[in-house]
Amino acid sequence: MPNADQNDILFERARAVIPGGVNSPVRAFKAVGGTPRFIRRAEGAYFWDANDKRYIDYIGSWGPMILGHGHPAVVEAVQKAVLEGFSYGAPTEREIELAEAILALVPSMEMVRLVSSGTEAAMSALRLARGATGRKHIIKFEGCYHGHADALLVKAGSGLATFGHPTSAGVPPEVTQHTLVLEYNNIAQLEEAFALHGNDIACLMIEAIAGNMNFVRATPEFAARCRALCTQHGALLVFDEVMTGFRVGLHGAQGVLGITPDLTVLGKVIGGGMPLAAFGGPRAIMEQLAPLGPVYQAGTLSGNPVATACGLATLKEIARPGFYEALSKKTRSLVDGLKAAAAAEGQPFNADSEGGMFGFFLMNELPQNYAKVMTTDNAKFNALFHGLLDRGVYIAPALYEAGFVSAAHSDEDIAATVEAARQIFKASQPR
Ligand SMILES: *Cc1c(COP(=O)(O)O)cnc(C)c1O
Repeated sequence: MPNADQNDILFERARAVIPGGVNSPVRAFKAVGGTPRFIRRAEGAYFWDANDKRYIDYIGSWGPMILGHGHPAVVEAVQKAVLEGFSYGAPTEREIELAEAILALVPSMEMVRLVSSGTEAAMSALRLARGATGRKHIIKFEGCYHGHADALLVKAGSGLATFGHPTSAGVPPEVTQHTLVLEYNNIAQLEEAFALHGNDIACLMIEAIAGNMNFVRATPEFAARCRALCTQHGALLVFDEVMTGFRVGLHGAQGVLGITPDLTVLGKVIGGGMPLAAFGGPRAIMEQLAPLGPVYQAGTLSGNPVATACGLATLKEIARPGFYEALSKKTRSLVDGLKAAAAAEGQPFNADSEGGMFGFFLMNELPQNYAKVMTTDNAKFNALFHGLLDRGVYIAPALYEAGFVSAAHSDEDIAATVEAARQIFKASQPR
């Protein structure tokens, strides 16, 4: 079979031994159809699939690869660390260095605990918030993703400011009965929730620039109201910056919005592509954690020496002067180019970006919440996705995901991407 598609062959093999052939659902191309590309290697702004076809990579491992793939300084740090041992289960100086580096860049955090995934970090932050406040209820927003801890796999119930229903089998309703699910950017609903339940709310968890319903910003008024209501009612404001931390700017979404949360959850970029995440906040709250306090939290591979080496080397590069200015400019040129291409071909389109993160919408307005994002024309998105894929441009295989530009993307890569999109816009029916 000389022309056999290697991705098809691998997908068939994978499905025999791994549920759906993937280890994280969005990789399966279920939303867009077709065969997932199995990646063989990556370098800079590109990766190559099993057929050795090259793609310009706009997912960057869903955010971590802000420097591009295989940055020499990061590779060197990881190689050196590997030779010194993979894991000890005992503390290391490198964990202190990474903690110090994180705290220096995120002033709202006085102490930090390192863990291995964003899910684990968000789940632990939630437990800490409940432990520190002695309260049960939590607020989350429809369209925000905070990992797959049971209490957070929840969608809105019927009616305003009600408690949510599980979105996954295997989550008993009892486990989500304390989770209030509200509409993003809806100030009236937020006020109602605090008016009804304010004294029982442990925390409000939010992606202040949401990247799991495409790219949707909290309005400055909404973010400020979240802060004020938490303060007024003694609830903790938790910014889930797993995606936005060191991605939208050196100080995260909290830096962009100028809002100080109580707890911050980090992941993705801080591991530079290795399993590493963190949560942190004021000393008095963080000291509630074991071994000092009554809130239990632990991890065999937490603060892993190879992962911390990778994260530290990554943070060192992004903290260089001018890094985010250059990255933002690049991302903006992509977004502006796509907007111009769509306008030239009479296609409804809008897009937004912050730092190295962007989102685009096949509609003229920028959505403010999940329900609006979900009005996107699925068939049109899928045609655009597959058109780009054929032309060697890899964007997220679902319309409710954000996109990521790295420091390794060149002006030529951006121009080629815009040209590919223009061809697809031109070929599709204007309306
Ligand atoms: C990716 C993500 C998570 C989950 O992180 P994992 O490392 O995949 O467990 C949590 N919150 C946000 C905002 C994320 O983008």
